[in-house]
Amino acid sequence: MRDHHYAADLTRLAPGAYSYVVGTGTWNQSNSGLVTSRGEALIVDTLMTLDLTRRMLSAYGAADPAATHIDLVVNTHADGDHTWGNQLVADGRIIATEATLEDLKHLPTPQQADAMAPNLAELGSTGRFLERFVAGLDFAGAELVCPNETFRGSLELTVGDKDVKLVQVGPAHSNGDLVVHVPSDRVIYVGDILFTSGHPAVWSGPYQNWIEACTTIEALDVDFVVPGHGPLSDRAGVARQRGYLEYVRDQAGAFHQKGLSLGEAARVFDLGPYAGWPDPERILINIDAVYRELEDGRAPDKLDLFGKIADLLDEADTGRPMPWSR
Ligand SMILES: [Zn+2]
Repeated sequence: MRDHHYAADLTRLAPGAYSYVVGTGTWNQSNSGLVTSRGEALIVDTLMTLDLTRRMLSAYGAADPAATHIDLVVNTHADGDHTWGNQLVADGRIIATEATLEDLKHLPTPQQADAMAPNLAELGSTGRFLERFVAGLDFAGAELVCPNETFRGSLELTVGDKDVKLVQVGPAHSNGDLVVHVPSDRVIYVGDILFTSGHPAVWSGPYQNWIEACTTIEALDVDFVVPGHGPLSDRAGVARQRGYLEYVRDQAGAFHQKGLSLGEAARVFDLGPYAGWPDPERILINIDAVYRELEDGRAPDKLDLFGKIADLLDEADTGRPMPWSR
């Protein structure tokens, strides 16, 4: 594993409230959070591999004695970079939305990722994407452990004497997105509803749900917003993400109306104020989400989109100008 890519920062946000921010937040570099009170501990998300999750848990244990045993785990959504470390905290309550549990039944497992790793070359464009962004991660011995408690809508929990509110805001990034609000800490942990100042990945949509989730978070009385990827943020960071979503939705919608194919649109897109944001290849996913919404509302074909992204990046490597290089 290219270790320096996964360097992590633990920050204490309030008494018994922490963020754990990994790398730059690019593909698979996901964050987590910790809430403690009176000897009880809740974590928001686990990380993609056992090794990354172990390092996170040991940093939490060193920062706060309550975190030497994790009582509650909340998975903000189903993606592997937020759930595949569940195995290490499997004796606790693991909570997610019903839709997240359903997503987990259909997504690849860490065992499958481990089995696939030596054979990426046989997978064509999709394999080239995985080589770029997943190669080097060690999935040996990892098993998927699913949430053992689910809900729909909202759920109130207590951690020691703190009230913790789980609110389902998806489908947006995934089908089952939720956010974790701790009013007494003035902190909200939002999973992949926020990629701080970076291109998010609009997988499920619809855009309107995600935009409304942002508006709701922006109206909360919180000092910190802990994103699923990228640096620790705040309500202004969420507002910037909302601006991005509105901008992409409108331009992609205009391209759709003009009859541009997804590939054409991704190659001529004007990133405007977002030209400097990291992970610009995700524009392809985000245009696709607009197109799917305007057409038949079908689900995304993730493997196909990964392949299309690899093609786009390979083309950029040969010197062809791309939206982010103009
Ligand atoms: Zn993620």
